[in-house]
Amino acid sequence: PDVIAVVPAAGIGSRMQSDRPKQYMTLGQRTLLEYSIASLFTHPAVSKVVVALHPDDDQFHRLPLASDPRIITVTGGGSRADSVYAGLQAAGDTEWVLVHDAARPCLHPDDLQRLLTLTADSEVGGILASPVSDTMKRALYEGNAIEHTVDREALWHALTPQLFPLALLKQCLLQAMNDGATITDEASALEYCGYHPRLIPGRSDNIKVTRPEDLALADFFLTRRQT
Ligand code: C5P
Repeated sequence: PDVIAVVPAAGIGSRMQSDRPKQYMTLGQRTLLEYSIASLFTHPAVSKVVVALHPDDDQFHRLPLASDPRIITVTGGGSRADSVYAGLQAAGDTEWVLVHDAARPCLHPDDLQRLLTLTADSEVGGILASPVSDTMKRALYEGNAIEHTVDREALWHALTPQLFPLALLKQCLLQAMNDGATITDEASALEYCGYHPRLIPGRSDNIKVTRPEDLALADFFLTRRQT
């Protein structure tokens, strides 16, 4: 069955020290947003991508993909959850929805395939995730000293895409937002409502470009794949 994807791209990238939002930073000829969207269309089940844009966005319409009939845009909101919710409202009639960060250009087709395959028989969906390799510390309240070491065997980095039944994600996002819960990815909304989405091991090169040095890393990962 068809899967619709929502790409929140309405952030302003305040941590990038750049003159433009990170989704519009370029690797070679293409923006991160274009790479991220193209990575979703590598799977034949993905029939439509809804992109949530900042109300002042003046760049999307200049991209070649702005005229792609499979892509529609909506105006995002003040938080990531608001932007995703706006995208879901425009997703139309679909059972499953993928949510993927605009700033994750290195999603590998194999990971997308694995997420869809290994989540297909789930009632609540799942996310790509990678095991934590550093030793993890919980800080004291002031943040300047260690309280204790957290068992890393139980810790995973939450990546995207994340795949959920559309109706369930909408319901959980709405409830979490209404209650003022902290939502930093879509799975957090389901967790908030008591569900346990699956962890699907993904590649660690599926990075979120957040800091300036991440751009060079993303370039390296993508270039290495082409050769
Ligand atoms: O800030 P963070 O790195 O968590 O942003 C993740 C994604 O959410 C980015 O693609 C960003 O553009 C998007 N976002 C959004 N609307 C917001 C804030 C972030 O679509 N209000």
